[in-house]
Amino acid sequence: PAIGDLVAAPEPTFSFEFFPPRGDKGEKTLWTALRELEPLQPSFVSVTYGAGGGNRAKTIETTERIATETTLLPMAHLTAVNHSVAELRNLIGHFAAVGVRNILALRGDPPGDVSGEWIAHPDGFTHAHELVSLLKESGDFSVGVAAFPERHPRSPDWDSEIRHFVAKCRAGADFAITQMFFNWADWARLRDATVAAGCDVPIVPGVMPVINVRNLERIAELTGAHIPPAIADRFHAVAEDPVAVRDLGVEIATELCDRLLSEGAPGIHFITMNRSTATREIWQNLRSVAPV
Ligand code: FAD
Repeated sequence: PAIGDLVAAPEPTFSFEFFPPRGDKGEKTLWTALRELEPLQPSFVSVTYGAGGGNRAKTIETTERIATETTLLPMAHLTAVNHSVAELRNLIGHFAAVGVRNILALRGDPPGDVSGEWIAHPDGFTHAHELVSLLKESGDFSVGVAAFPERHPRSPDWDSEIRHFVAKCRAGADFAITQMFFNWADWARLRDATVAAGCDVPIVPGVMPVINVRNLERIAELTGAHIPPAIADRFHAVAEDPVAVRDLGVEIATELCDRLLSEGAPGIHFITMNRSTATREIWQNLRSVAPV
């Protein structure tokens, strides 16, 4: 199935994001999580694309295994970082050949330093919309793009953020998935601004449960996500107790998902960090509040 169609349907989608494993231990952790989440019958699962090196091939290998050995529907993330257009064409052909027809098309960040200067490959792309167009002309792909409820760190202002996001959607994106965030109103503002600009691409919120306090600090560093003081206070109040922090992370993510769904979000995309427990608890909580 095309993820674009699933996300556009009235029933909310539930999906999980993983990263390509490193080493035997990483492989085992990932496959344990996949097998534990499989019975929940998520709408799809996605595998991120590394900044470079050997683990890029792992994205293809992992999505192929998911397609052939599980009942799950895989989506591969793909970035333009350090790839010529010819290499991207080749990779796209490879994904099609292994049965992966759903791709999240991304520009990517400079390897090593996410805030460093972006330098396009001399024969490559500068922005994600070019990769969207390439995918759309390469075959029958359902294509997703990234969205940023708190604005992309490189965008000078909100208006240019929306203008570029809408242009990226118009290049052929079928759906969008957001960067993680904590305040539901940021997602609603992005959705409303996109609709006001005449674009109806469904924007699925990305949600990551915080499972330890270190996690909380890393998130702010890596994604630029703003942690509302009220939420930071709740975590700091229990910072000495790892079990309480984890439980609170599940509770806060449940509250966020619940609100997003009641505000009309087309689904929830859970960033799992290759673990299943916290995500399964949130899933259970959501089902007990409102049948989904
Ligand atoms: P773009 O859409 O190209 O946007 C980048 C910047 O350029 C923005 O500021 C935008 O406003 C601006 N811009 C866009 N078009 C134009 C234009 N025509 N002219 C001028 N400015 C323009 N990274 C990975 O490496 N691997 C992953 O697997 C991965 N998965 C992700 C999944 C999700 C759901 C999200 C939200 C992000 C993910 N990222 C991943 C991170 C992403 O690659 C970075 O955030 C990157 O900096 C932006 O990618 P983009 O596709 O949004 O780029």
